Amino acid sequence: MIKLSLDLAALILLCILFYLWLSTMLYKKSFLKKHREYKETEKKYNLLLSINARLDRDNHELGKKLEETVALYDLTRNICKYLDEERVFLNFKEELSRYIEVSDCRFVKTNEDLTPYKEYALIELDIDKVLIGYLVARLNNKHDNEKFHILGQQFLLGIKRAILYQRVQELAITDSLSGVFSRRYYLERFKEEIGRSQKFNYSFSCLMIDIDHFKNYNDHYGHLVGDAILRELSKTIKENIRQIDLIGRYGGEEFSIILTETDKEQAKFAAERIRHSVESKYIRVYDEDLQVTVSIGISSFPSDGKSMELLIDNADSALYYAKQSGRNKVSAFGERN
Ligand code: GH3
Ligand code: MG
Ligand code: MG
Repeated sequence: MIKLSLDLAALILLCILFYLWLSTMLYKKSFLKKHREYKETEKKYNLLLSINARLDRDNHELGKKLEETVALYDLTRNICKYLDEERVFLNFKEELSRYIEVSDCRFVKTNEDLTPYKEYALIELDIDKVLIGYLVARLNNKHDNEKFHILGQQFLLGIKRAILYQRVQELAITDSLSGVFSRRYYLERFKEEIGRSQKFNYSFSCLMIDIDHFKNYNDHYGHLVGDAILRELSKTIKENIRQIDLIGRYGGEEFSIILTETDKEQAKFAAERIRHSVESKYIRVYDEDLQVTVSIGISSFPSDGKSMELLIDNADSALYYAKQSGRNKVSAFGERN
C-alpha cells in the first residue's frame, strides 16, 4: 500500500516536473520568438531613425543651398539693376558684404596694378575671351572663396550687360532713359546745323544745361529716383523749346540744346523760360514731391565760335560761371553779369 502511494507520488512529481519543463520550454520558445521580433523591430526602427536623420540632414543642406541660391539670385537681380559699369561695381561691393565677410574688394584693370593684392582672392574677368580686368577681394574667411567665385560670375554678368547697354546706347539715336537724342546723334546733328547755318547765314545758339546738386538727390533718394528726375526734366525742357530745336543728353545729367535760327538775346530768353519752368515744377516720385533747379550756359554761332568743339566749350564755361555765381542761373558766354 505504502509502495503504491510512493509510486503515485513519484508519478505526480514526474508529471509536475514534466509540466514545469514543458511550460518552461514553451515559455522559452515564445520568449525567444518575441525577442527575435523585438530585435527585428528594433533594427527596423534604428534604420528608420538613421534614414530620418539623413533626410533631416539632406533637408537642412537643401534648405541651406536653397537659401544660397535665393541669395545669389537676389544678388544678381540687385547687381543687374544698374547699367553703368561703375555703379554695377559699387553696388556689387555693397551687396557682396551681405553674403561674405570681406574687408576689401576692388576692380583692377591691368595685371601690373595687382601687386598690392597678392593676398587677395582673385577672379579674372573676360568677355568674349578679352580680359577686361580682375576682381580682387580680401576675404576674412577662406571658406568663402567658392562663394566669392560664384558671386564674381554674377558680377561679370552685370558688367557684360552694362557694356552691351552702353554699346547699344552709343549706336542709338535716342537715349532710352530721357527720350532725347543720344550724344552721338546729337553731335552729328550739331555739325549739320553748323553747315546749314553757314550756308544760309543764320545764327543759332547752344545751351548746356546741368542739374544743380544732383548728386545729393541720388545720395538721398537713390538712383532710381534720380533717373525719374532726369525723365521728368527732359519732358519739361521739351515743353519749352520748339519742334525744330535739337536736344541731346550730353552727359549723365547734362543736356545740350541747339536753338536753331536763334541769336544770343533770344536764347537768353528761352533759357530763362526753361530755368523758371524747371524751378517751379513739382516732380512726383513715389510719395514725394521733389523740386530741382538747373544752371544753363549759352554760346552762339557764329559770334562765340564757328566749330562745334569751340561752341560747346564756350557754353560749358558759361555754365561753369552760372554754377559759380550761385546755381539756378542762366549765363551767356562773353557776358559776366
Ligand atoms: P553741381 O550743382 O555742381 O552740378 O552738382 P552735382 O551734384 O550735380 O555735380 P555733378 O554735376 O558733377 O554730378 C553729377 C551727378 O549726376 C553724379 C552722378 O551720380 C549723377 N548721374 C549721372 N548720370 C546719371 C544717371 O543716369 N542717373 C542718375 N540717377 N544719376 C546720374
Ligand atoms: Mg554735371
Ligand atoms: Mg550737376
